[in-house]
Amino acid sequence: MIQTKNLKKQFGSHIVLNNISETIEKGEKIVVIGPSGSGKSTFLRCLNLLEVPDGGEIWFEGKNILDPKNDINILRRKMGMVFQQFNLFPHKTVKENITLAPIKLGVMNKEEADVRAAELLKRVGLPEKADSYPKQLSGGQKQRIAIARALAMNPDVMLFDEPTSALDPEMVGEVLELMKELAADGMTMVVVTHEMGFAREVGTRVLFMDQGMIMEQNSPQEFFGNPTNPRLKEFLSKVL
Ligand code: ADP
Ligand code: MG
Repeated sequence: MIQTKNLKKQFGSHIVLNNISETIEKGEKIVVIGPSGSGKSTFLRCLNLLEVPDGGEIWFEGKNILDPKNDINILRRKMGMVFQQFNLFPHKTVKENITLAPIKLGVMNKEEADVRAAELLKRVGLPEKADSYPKQLSGGQKQRIAIARALAMNPDVMLFDEPTSALDPEMVGEVLELMKELAADGMTMVVVTHEMGFAREVGTRVLFMDQGMIMEQNSPQEFFGNPTNPRLKEFLSKVL
């Protein structure tokens, strides 16, 4: 579904992604862990071109997305993204947040988008919040709405960048639970997280990023049970 070849990104002289070559198959649930500043967010943001790479290739569903002939907007429709800070539009209702992109991009008319929003609100367990504003919601509810918004375009893959890191502890569970349901439904997912329980339980493959490189990757069982990279061992000793 996604393949990067020698993906490179630098800010000034600081190399943030150092030749990342990685393949993500349809249906996989990739969990990315690693220390702060290791390039995890930049990697995700390059995948949907929120950041423009400085070198290498990104292939998505058979298309080279760095080829200017390919329409970035079509690509973005197929990749939903969920951010740590929710990024909901504060002056729009929950329903408007969910329907905005599909209507604006001409994928659905208003009626269709409203029907889809109602379905999604039911799916994320918040059918009664359609007309609420983000500030009236708890953090966990905001993130469930952000997930619903990302699902509105029927994406083929969902990218999550520390979706529970900004939440009060008692709200982490409801968001992880929703993500587990998505995973069980077969969604292809790439999840940057510090939730090691989620990585073990849901991940099909866990990646350790450090200094702009993927230093180790394995099934959760091997990754946690039998780590080999010294920096991964050190990292795990701090977080587990
Ligand atoms: P992580 O998500 O693993 O914490 P990031 O991908 O956010 O790491 O950042 C990797 C490195 O790139 C950090 O040193 C960060 O300061 C730097 N960086 C990220 N975005 C920018 C930017 N827009 N401009 C300059 N430096 C950046
Ligand atoms: Mg980050």
